[in-house]
Amino acid sequence: MSLNEIPLYIQINPQDNVAIIVNSKGLSQGTIFPCGLELEEYVPQGHKVTLTNLAIGDAIVRYGEVIGHAAAPVKRGRWLKESLVKLPTPPELDELPIATKIPDRLPPLEGYTFEGYRNADGSAGIKNILGITTSVQCVAGVLDYAVREIKKEILPNYPNVHDVVAINHTYGCGVAINAPEAEIPIRTIQNIAMHPNFGGELLVVGLGCEKLAPSRLVPSGDHGSIVSLQDENGFTNMIKTIKEMAEERLTSLNRRQRETCPLSDLVVGLQCGGSDAFSGVTANPAVGFAADLLVRGGATVLFSEVTEVRDAVHLLTPRAVNEQVGKDLIKEMKWYDDYLMKGDADRSANPSPGNKKGGLSNVVEKSLGSIAKSGRSPISGVLSPGEKAAQKGLLFAATPASDFVCGTLQLASGMHMQVFTTGRGTPYGLAMAPVIKVSTRNTLMEQWHDLIDVNAGEIATGKATIEDVGWSIFHYIIDVASGRTQTWAEKWRLHNDLALFNPAPIT
Ligand code: CA
Repeated sequence: MSLNEIPLYIQINPQDNVAIIVNSKGLSQGTIFPCGLELEEYVPQGHKVTLTNLAIGDAIVRYGEVIGHAAAPVKRGRWLKESLVKLPTPPELDELPIATKIPDRLPPLEGYTFEGYRNADGSAGIKNILGITTSVQCVAGVLDYAVREIKKEILPNYPNVHDVVAINHTYGCGVAINAPEAEIPIRTIQNIAMHPNFGGELLVVGLGCEKLAPSRLVPSGDHGSIVSLQDENGFTNMIKTIKEMAEERLTSLNRRQRETCPLSDLVVGLQCGGSDAFSGVTANPAVGFAADLLVRGGATVLFSEVTEVRDAVHLLTPRAVNEQVGKDLIKEMKWYDDYLMKGDADRSANPSPGNKKGGLSNVVEKSLGSIAKSGRSPISGVLSPGEKAAQKGLLFAATPASDFVCGTLQLASGMHMQVFTTGRGTPYGLAMAPVIKVSTRNTLMEQWHDLIDVNAGEIATGKATIEDVGWSIFHYIIDVASGRTQTWAEKWRLHNDLALFNPAPIT
């Protein structure tokens, strides 16, 4: 009998009264587990089986935490379907314990470095890319035309430069630019224009009459970095000017060589998308272990996705390194609660239909799995959406959970690369930064063998431990940062659009 055929379930915490089914095809009625539990009905992979009889209103416990209450009586050995789980109320933000269980700092991890590119401002990059930023969407077509020609005619002459990327977005005009919340999209574009993977070579293409003045994207005030289309004499000249200015920058980028950098120069973002019930058991804890290794090595790790930590925030505030960090975390949660309330949005809008098919009943269960990515380190700081990371260690970077918006905001915070866990599967990628995809299940790895970089599925079958996979992810991160390994998304050049978070009005 192969491992796949032995009936397996995973109970995460001894207090849990539900467990999830491991076997890829689910398990049929009458299946008897080694512990004696017998299934009363078919239960699909990743879905929950009840380990005890539940009366109506009884707490349903997974990860040692209440994920809901029984909406009806449920007997032991039944499939605990989503409709049987009533959503509990989220933790009260005014009553959270702050800095009450600050984890001991894990011992420093010595001897790890990566091969990166040193920037003039002291930061390091892991790619050598020419980024061309736009101040308004109006110019996107012209810039795309120019970038196509640059890639075809000029870039091949500069073999040390990896790519030319147009930073197109939907912002810049037709927006309430002075609204208080406009600071989020504006600082996002500002920080992305100066991203460490662009080597400090700034080039901005603007129109000339937009609300977001191109000069706001040039911190040095160096107007030699701006092309203003309304000052150009026709389309052909616009393209010529952009190409000439691009070539000047490609010349200097081409001189750069990789050099050994300490891990403290590295900023790694974490995200999940297309999650399933295995996310919190396999991929996210393994990523959490890798996150701890990075923090121990002095790196910066960003974890995000407010709507997916909100219901588990009572487990995060005690880990805040001090009172201020705890308060900052709560402030970001409050801001997002208000934002959702303004839009009359219900938090049950998350999880997605795919998450539910993967066995996740509600946002509480999803959150408990999601925060496993943050590992066990103290939380040393909190960033508002799009703010640049100014300190090392584990930081909470407040972003929506939307994959593209989270990716864009983590780039603005200075992320060099992202580690992305997925159970259902997504081909997501970013043009400016490598994305390492970690699968939660063996079946996804088999099905998407040329899209998934690291498989954490063997943790569920017992063939690998969280530590094994965590170390693999850590080594993979260093190899990708050093340019020794390319992720599948890099190889296939899979790039999602940047998606700004703009909570301010559009006019
Ligand atoms: Ca996400």
